[in-house]
Amino acid sequence: MVVVMQERATGEQVERVIAQLVEMGFDIHRSTGALRTVIGAVGRTSADPRLIELLDGVHEVLRITEPYKLASRTFKPENTVITVGDVRIGGDEVIVMAGPCSAESAEQVEAAAAAVKRAGAKVLRGGAYKPRSSPYSFQGLGEEGLQLLRGAADRHNLKLISEVMESGQISTIERYADILQVGARNMQNYTLLRDLGKSRLPVMLKRGISATIEEWLLSAEYILAGGNMNVMLCERGIRTFESYTRNTLDISAIPVVQHLSHLPIIVDPSHGTGRRDKVASMARAAVAAGADGLIIEVHCDPDHAMSDGAQSMYPAQFDRVMAELRIIAPAIGRSICLEPVARRGWSR
Ligand code: PEP
Ligand code: MN
Repeated sequence: MVVVMQERATGEQVERVIAQLVEMGFDIHRSTGALRTVIGAVGRTSADPRLIELLDGVHEVLRITEPYKLASRTFKPENTVITVGDVRIGGDEVIVMAGPCSAESAEQVEAAAAAVKRAGAKVLRGGAYKPRSSPYSFQGLGEEGLQLLRGAADRHNLKLISEVMESGQISTIERYADILQVGARNMQNYTLLRDLGKSRLPVMLKRGISATIEEWLLSAEYILAGGNMNVMLCERGIRTFESYTRNTLDISAIPVVQHLSHLPIIVDPSHGTGRRDKVASMARAAVAAGADGLIIEVHCDPDHAMSDGAQSMYPAQFDRVMAELRIIAPAIGRSICLEPVARRGWSR
């Protein structure tokens, strides 16, 4: 349940309500807004809300009817904004994360970081631990890959997002990355999600290949319930009967999630389509539909990429879509990379 305190409620009254809820067996999440304090009470216990309604200083008690609680808009009506240094995810600015699918070599990571920075990306993406469908495919460079990514991100003043596949990798990746990515295949790895609830870093949770929006939000709830409130969601396409594209990008998930949850939503048009010639259209659609950010695969030599080459954009294509997004974002009251960026040729 959510307990909304009166505007003039005293600190003592708030403490009294919290003490009562704790006694009833609830975990407490308190948020103090400009006008009033809101107390979220979550737990396996159920209680008669009237016992709380009657306490001094209480304005109203709302039941959260959704199965996910901390992720719901009822619990937190205002949007969550996640701060990563000077980058704000979930605010007015649409944040673009871009880079290679995998870190492959120092030269490849450096070239990709320089290209995405020049075009206006704020966060470098790149996997060091790769979840591949085949055990014979390239599995990532591990910690060496993280070192390469961190070095390039620092040289170009970019933040870094990288995927964590299992709990044992968390502490290593935390030493290098600014945001931890949970891949589609791990959306229901509940042990990993619980452990990420204890991380100090924000987590980007990708939607599972066949997950409903409710299942996705329940997975986010595991991380939130563990105490980590900095969770963003990522729509990356779901599996349908269509085989022309690698996945079917669910653009409608953007307004649905924004209605149900306060968490920022990022869209991945690269995995969402699997084809670089379709990535720009879907990136434009995602921003027009209200996405808080994009994550896009970019590679300077995608034909020789060790993973996901077919869906990785050439830098010139990425430049072009960024320029288009700069026109679309203001039409819906958003901005995108206000810093001037170098103009480059748009061939290819
Ligand atoms: C990736 O981002 O490279 C990746 C493996 O994504 P997903 O988990 O969405 O397949
Ligand atoms: Mn990939």
